[in-house]
Amino acid sequence: MDIMHADEPSADAPTNASAADRARPAKTAAEVLATPAQFLAGVGPKRVDLLERLDLRTAKDVIFNFPRDYQDLTDVRPIAELEEGKLLSVVATVEDIDSRVSANGRTVVGVLFSQSGQYLRAMWFNMPFMRDHFARGQSVLLSGQPKYAGGRWEMVHPRVQYVEADDDDAPRGKVLPVYSLTEGLNQSQMRNIARGALDQCVDVLDEVFPAEYLAEHNLWPIRRALSQVHFPDDRASLEQARRRFVYQELFVLQLALAVKRRRTRDDGHAPPLEASAKIDARIRRLLPFELTAGQRRVIDEIAADMAGARPMNRLLQGDVGSGKTAVAVYAMLVAVAHGHQAVLMAPTEVLARQHFATVSQLLAGSQVRVALVTGSVPSAPRAESERRIAAGEIDLVVGTQAIVRGELEFAKLGLAVIDEQHKFGVRQRAMLRQAGGDPHYLVMTATPIPRTLAMTVFGDLDVSTLREQPPNRQPVHTYLVGAEQREKWWDFYRRKLGEGRQGYVITPLVEESAEMEAMSVQQAYEALANGELEAFKLAVVHGRMNAEEKHAAMDAFRAGDTQVLVATSVVEVGVDVPNATLMTIEDAERFGLAQLHQLRGRIRRGKYPAYCGIIAEPKTDESKSRLDALVGSDDGFELAEVDFRLRGPGDMLGTRQHGLPPLMIADMHRDTAILEEARRDAKAMIDADPALALPEHLLLRRMVLARYGHSLDLGDVG
Ligand code: ADP
Ligand code: MG
Repeated sequence: MDIMHADEPSADAPTNASAADRARPAKTAAEVLATPAQFLAGVGPKRVDLLERLDLRTAKDVIFNFPRDYQDLTDVRPIAELEEGKLLSVVATVEDIDSRVSANGRTVVGVLFSQSGQYLRAMWFNMPFMRDHFARGQSVLLSGQPKYAGGRWEMVHPRVQYVEADDDDAPRGKVLPVYSLTEGLNQSQMRNIARGALDQCVDVLDEVFPAEYLAEHNLWPIRRALSQVHFPDDRASLEQARRRFVYQELFVLQLALAVKRRRTRDDGHAPPLEASAKIDARIRRLLPFELTAGQRRVIDEIAADMAGARPMNRLLQGDVGSGKTAVAVYAMLVAVAHGHQAVLMAPTEVLARQHFATVSQLLAGSQVRVALVTGSVPSAPRAESERRIAAGEIDLVVGTQAIVRGELEFAKLGLAVIDEQHKFGVRQRAMLRQAGGDPHYLVMTATPIPRTLAMTVFGDLDVSTLREQPPNRQPVHTYLVGAEQREKWWDFYRRKLGEGRQGYVITPLVEESAEMEAMSVQQAYEALANGELEAFKLAVVHGRMNAEEKHAAMDAFRAGDTQVLVATSVVEVGVDVPNATLMTIEDAERFGLAQLHQLRGRIRRGKYPAYCGIIAEPKTDESKSRLDALVGSDDGFELAEVDFRLRGPGDMLGTRQHGLPPLMIADMHRDTAILEEARRDAKAMIDADPALALPEHLLLRRMVLARYGHSLDLGDVG
C-alpha cells in the first residue's frame, strides 16, 4: 500500500520534518515500516495468519489499515437519561426480536433492548433482513434519535454496532476505532495490534508535504494525523485527522489527473481549425433555427479548443433534447470549412441513420460530401465509401462506433464526435487510427455526470455543459401509476392517441439474451394488441430484428403509419419523432433513474404536451425515492445528483468502474468540499511545477506514480 506514505525515501528525498522532532532509530524508516507482522506486539504465529487474511503483512500495512468505522462513546447514556430530539447512543442487550407485516404491506422488524431494568424498542421498516442481525443476549451500541412513545423509549432505524463482551478496554467518553476483522480476531485484539504497531512506527514516518504547505492548508502532520485517525481524542480530532488523509488521497488523484490532462494536451498535434467570422456566418445560415444562448456558449468553448494546435479533448453534457446535435454539426462544419474531414459516431445503427438524415437535410444545398457507414450498408457501396474516405473525397462521415473504430482510414481527419456515450472510462476512450496528426475529440453524453465525478474520474477531460432546452419545449407530465390507476392511465393514453398523438410502450429488458428480449417484447405487444390498445396500429422493435426490419418499423412510426411503438430500453436513446408524446414504462422499478429520464426524453420534442406513465409498485424506500424524484423533476442534472446520492456512499461508481484504483478513505458524497479544495490546489501546483520536479515535490511525485502511473498511463511524469 503506497498510497498514504511514500516508500524508500532515498538520500535525495528532503525530509520535511525538522531534525528535532525526529527520533533517530537505529533502523532506517523503511526497515521499521517493513517489520513483518509476526514481530509486532500482540501478534503470535496464529494471528499472523489471521492478519495475512486481511492483507496485513507488515507494520506499515497495519498502521495504514484505517478503521472502517468508529464507536462514538462520548455520548452514551443510560436509557433512563435519554432525551428526545438529540442524537444519542445507548449500550443495551437484545431481549426479544419480532417481525410483522403491517396493513399497507410494510415489514416491521422490532427489537426490544434492556439495560438495568429499563427498556428501549428499536424498529426497522421494510428491512426484513434486520431480523437476522440480532441474537438474544447480544450487546449492542445503538445510536439514533430517541422518542418517548406509549410509555417506552423508541428508536427508528438506529445505527447498530456490536459491542464485544470482552470489550472492557472501552473507557466511556472515547471514540474507538472499528476495524475490519476476520474470524478468530476480535475488535479489542485488533485495536491492541494497531496501537502497538503505531507506537513502534509513527515516529519514523516521513512527511510528503512541505511543512509550510501543511500549515497553509490546515493539514495535520502525518504523525499526529495517523495516531489520531486510529485513536482520536474526540470527534473534532478525528475530523482533523481524517481530513489530512482524505485531502492527501484526493490531492494525489487530482495531481495525477492534472498531469494527465496537461500531457494529453501537450503531446498531441491537431490541426488548428478556427471558426472565423466568415465560417461562423456560413454555418449559421445552414441551421434551420437560431442557436440558443447555451448552444452559443458551448460552441464558443469548443471553437476555442479547435482553434489551437493541441487536440481538443472535451465532453459535452446536455440533457436529452438539449440540442447537442446542432453543436456537433457546427463543430464538424468548422473542420470541413478548413478542408479537413469530420466524423460523427453513434452507438447504434438507428441513431447513425437518424444523424445522417439530419445532416444530409441540413447540407442539401451545400457542397459538403457526406457518407454513412454502418453495418447494414450493403458491402459494395460501403467499400466505395471507405475508399472515398481514405482518398479524401468525403468530408463528413456518419457511422456507428464499431465500424468507424474498426475499419475506417481517413485521409485528413480534423474532428471526431462521439455521440451518446454513457459508460466510457478514462482508459476506454479509444483513439482513431490515422496517419499524421491527431484529430480533435468531442464526446457527447445525455447522462449528466454528477459534479464530483466530473471532478474525479472525468477530471482529465474539459467539460462543457448545455443546461437549457431549446425554446418552446413542452414539459413531460410524469405520473406514477400504481395497480389501481392502470385502467385510468390507459384510458388517458387511448384518448390522446385518438386526438392524433403517437406513443411508446417500454418494457424492461429482463433477460440478457436477445431471444428473451424479443420474446418479452413480443409478449407485451400481443397483450396490448389484444387488450388495452386493440383499436390502434401497433409495431414492435427488438434486438432480434435485422436492421432492415428495424428501419422499416421506425420509418413507419415516424411517418405516422403506426401509432404505438412497443420496445425495450435497448432501443435507441435519442430517437426523434415530434408527434410521439405518450409513453408508458412498464415495470419501471427495474430501470435506473438516469435511464428512465432518458426514455422520457424521447417524448419531450414535439409541439404538444407530453405524458409519461410510470407503471410501478416500488418495494423499497430507495426505488420509491428514485421514482418520486423522477415525478418531481424534469431536470437531468438534478436527477443525476439524486441518483448519485441514492446509490450509496464511498468509492463505487467512482473510481473502480472507470479503471482507477479505489479510494481508500475519501467518500465522494461526504468529502466534496475537500475534493474541490484538493482539485484547486493540485491544479495550482501543476501549473507551477508541471512535472513535479522540484525537490520538495519529490515524494508527492513518487506517490502519484505509484498510485496512478499505471491506470492513467502516466509513464514517467514529465
Ligand atoms: P440531443 O441533445 O438529445 O441530441 P438534439 O440535438 O437531437 O438533442 O435536439 C433535439 C431537437 O431540438 C431536435 O429536433 C433539434 O432540431 C431541435 N433543436 C436543437 N437546437 C434548437 C434550437 N436552437 N432551436 C430550436 N430547436 C432546436
Ligand atoms: Mg442526440
